[in-house]
Amino acid sequence: MSVEIPKTQKAVVFYKNGGKLTYEDIDVPTPKSNELLINVKYSGVCHTDLHAWKGDWPLPVKLDPYLVGGHEGAGVVVAMGDNVKGWKIGDYAGIKWLNGSCMNCEECELGNESNCPMADLSGYTHNGSFQEYATADAVQAAKIPKNCDLAEIAPILCAGITVFKALKTADLSPGQWVAVSGAAGGLGSLAVQYAKAMGLRVVGIDGGEGKKELFEKCGGEVFVDFTSEADIPAAIIKATNGGAHGVINVSVSEKAIEQSTQYVRSNGTVVLVGLPAGAVCKSSVFDQVVKSYKIAGSYVGNRADSREAIDFFSRGLVRSPIKIAGLSELPRIYDEMIAGKILGRYVVDCAK
Ligand code: NAD
Ligand code: ZN
Repeated sequence: MSVEIPKTQKAVVFYKNGGKLTYEDIDVPTPKSNELLINVKYSGVCHTDLHAWKGDWPLPVKLDPYLVGGHEGAGVVVAMGDNVKGWKIGDYAGIKWLNGSCMNCEECELGNESNCPMADLSGYTHNGSFQEYATADAVQAAKIPKNCDLAEIAPILCAGITVFKALKTADLSPGQWVAVSGAAGGLGSLAVQYAKAMGLRVVGIDGGEGKKELFEKCGGEVFVDFTSEADIPAAIIKATNGGAHGVINVSVSEKAIEQSTQYVRSNGTVVLVGLPAGAVCKSSVFDQVVKSYKIAGSYVGNRADSREAIDFFSRGLVRSPIKIAGLSELPRIYDEMIAGKILGRYVVDCAK
């Protein structure tokens, strides 16, 4: 089967960090021998895309001369390089944050591919999914079952995989309490649902219009509003009768991360996922010793985590709370994200 592939396409690009985001015509890329060419139908808009555009992390983005952001792309395989195995034209494929890794270092050997020092990142060091046609390493691209809706699965490709892996990192048992800080955002609204599907009880922290309602729709039990609650640690310790057994930090707030070390239960785990620029995690050494809690970082997931997170979605155990917009509307979506006004996730239609 061969598919007509145009020479040029629409994309949203930027030429310098914090510079204008332009919706323009660029060349359709040619896949390398190890790559798929994916006709991206929909892409989720992750807070990481905002960090990439601002350039507020200590890791420079590729600009040669521009960057195409986006790393939650869902689409259809239209071409592939000579060395690609296990894919065919017409398959549904997902573009993840981890576009490719060396597969040769100790981290890759152990299945920790996201920690590979040579990791190639979609929408950061590799042009991503805010375009109609994007390339992806065939080994890391996600297999999407044909029963999945491509708009709804898009957020699973970063947000879903990331929170699924973070919940595994928290190492909890059914019936225990997990706190999700940033519970009504893109990652948070999925974290609440994965946690519920794993048999956990969820306390969520977020604030602003409609956030509590979305949290409850996702299956959350107790909501704490950070805009009105004066003592967040005390409120969570009370609601959970002693503190959360695990905390998934997906807010972009340094203060919220510090607070999470105060409401985690003894022997529990604080998981760091959100990446506020320049933040440090402050934890009282006395409290951490006496309560013996752990603080762990969690960074997207490997290929198995990705397959498993997609499987929860394709079986209907989690649903994406999405709002669909056109790709050309990306600047407005970033403004809403900066203002903290987004409920769940925006997904852009890459053809509009
Ligand atoms: P988002 O903007 O959709 O959600 C963030 C949520 O946090 C919002 O609902 C906001 O209201 C809430 N919030 C703000 N201040 C808060 C506070 N003080 N307490 C509780 N909640 C608060 O963002 P997102 O797309 O879900 O991404 C979140 C973060 O996770 C970003 O920093 C992103 O870069 C990072 N991220 C990390 C990984 C990883 O692998 N570690 C993967 C994807 C994203
Ligand atoms: Zn992301």
